[in-house]
Amino acid sequence: MIADQFETFLFDLDGVIYLGNEALPDAVNSVNRLHEQDKQIRFFTNDPRPTRDAVASRLRALGIEADEEEIVTAAWAAAAHLRQEGITKAAAVGSEGLRTEIRQQGITVTDESPEAVVVGADEQTSYTDIRRATRHIDDGARFIGTNPDGAFPTPNGPVPGAGAIVRAVETAARTSPTVVGKPEPLMFEVALEGTSGDQDGVVIGDNPATDILGAHRAGLTGILVADEAPTAASRRDFTHPDAVIQSLADLFSHTVTSWTDPQYSWPEDIRPGVGAVASNGSGEVLLLKRADKEQWALPTGTVERGESVEEAISREMREETGLHITVERLTGVYSHPEQQVFSYPSGETVHFVTNCFLCSVDGGTLEADQDEALEVGFFDTDRLPSQILSMHPRWIADAVEGTGVSVR
Ligand SMILES: [Mg+2]
Repeated sequence: MIADQFETFLFDLDGVIYLGNEALPDAVNSVNRLHEQDKQIRFFTNDPRPTRDAVASRLRALGIEADEEEIVTAAWAAAAHLRQEGITKAAAVGSEGLRTEIRQQGITVTDESPEAVVVGADEQTSYTDIRRATRHIDDGARFIGTNPDGAFPTPNGPVPGAGAIVRAVETAARTSPTVVGKPEPLMFEVALEGTSGDQDGVVIGDNPATDILGAHRAGLTGILVADEAPTAASRRDFTHPDAVIQSLADLFSHTVTSWTDPQYSWPEDIRPGVGAVASNGSGEVLLLKRADKEQWALPTGTVERGESVEEAISREMREETGLHITVERLTGVYSHPEQQVFSYPSGETVHFVTNCFLCSVDGGTLEADQDEALEVGFFDTDRLPSQILSMHPRWIADAVEGTGVSVR
C-alpha cells in the first residue's frame, strides 16, 4: 500500500485535508495514522499570507496533530529560499505573515537597499507597493514571487491572487521573477532540503495542473485525490498523476508505481523552429558546434514574427555562418517531446516543432560568428562526426533521400 511505499508525505491542504472549515472524510484519521507510523509529513499551501504557526493551529482545531515545522507555505518557502541564497536584507510586498516568515529566517525586512524583494500580495497591496518593488528590482534587487496564482475562488467569484501582483511588478520592472509556489518545483525542493524526502517522498493533491505538475518537476511521485482520473494529452504529460485515489483512506489500500524522472524538462512553451540540411554540391552538409556544446548539429533557429519558415532559415544561415542559401524543399517536421526540449540559461524551457529544409549553398563566405564562438564545417554524409546531436543523422537521411547521397 501507498502508506508503506514512502517515508515522506506532502499533503496539499485545500481540497485534500479540508474544504472551507470542514475536514474532508478520512483526512484526520489517515494523517494521524501516518504520524503514528513515524512518517515524515509536510502540509503545503500556495497561500502566501498566513504564518506556518497559524496554519498548524487551524489543522489542530480540525483534530490533526500538526507541528509548525511540518507546514510549508509559499511565504515560508520564499523566506527559506532567501536564506539558502545568502540574502541578509529583503523588502516585502504582502502580509504581516510574510514579513514574519522572512524575519524568522534571520533576514532583515527593509526598503533600504534590499538584496531581494519578495512579492506575495495580500488584500492591502496597492499601486505604491507595486512601484516600490519595481524600484528595488530596477536598482538590482532579486525578484522573488511567492506564488503564481492569478486568482483564487470565493463564493462571490474569483478574486486576484498574489500572482496577479507578481505579474504587475514583472510587467513594470521588465524582469522575470523566481517563483516559489507550485507548479514551480522550488517549494517542494526547499521543503525537503536536508531530508530524505527527495528520494522517498510523495505529493498528494487535488489539482493536476499545480500539485501533480509541481511534484513531477521536483522529481516526486504525484497522487491525485479525485473521483475520476483526468485525461492527459500524452503519457509524457507531467500533469498526469501516478495514481488517483478517492480519499486519503485509500493510502492504506492502494499502491502506486513511482514517478521516474524522464531525461527532459517540462517546457513552458512550444515554438516553431527551422533547420537546414545545407549541401555544398559535393555531397557534404554543413554542421555547427558551439563552444559550450560537445556536439555537432545542423543549423537551426526560430521563426520570428512576420517571417515565413523559408525566410527564417535563410536569415539564420546568413547570421550564423555568412552563407547564402536557396531553400529547395521541406524534408521533415520534427517535434520529439524529449529530444527537442531545450533549456536556456535564463531558466526558460521550450519545446520546438522544427521544419527542416534541404538547402543549397549559393553564395556568401563561410565565417563563424565570433561572438557565438562557433565552429563550422562541411561533412561528407557518409562520414558524419560521431559527436552529433542524436536526431540529426535522421534529419539528414530524410533530406538526402532520393538525391543519390548516402548517410552513415
Ligand atoms: Mg488543493
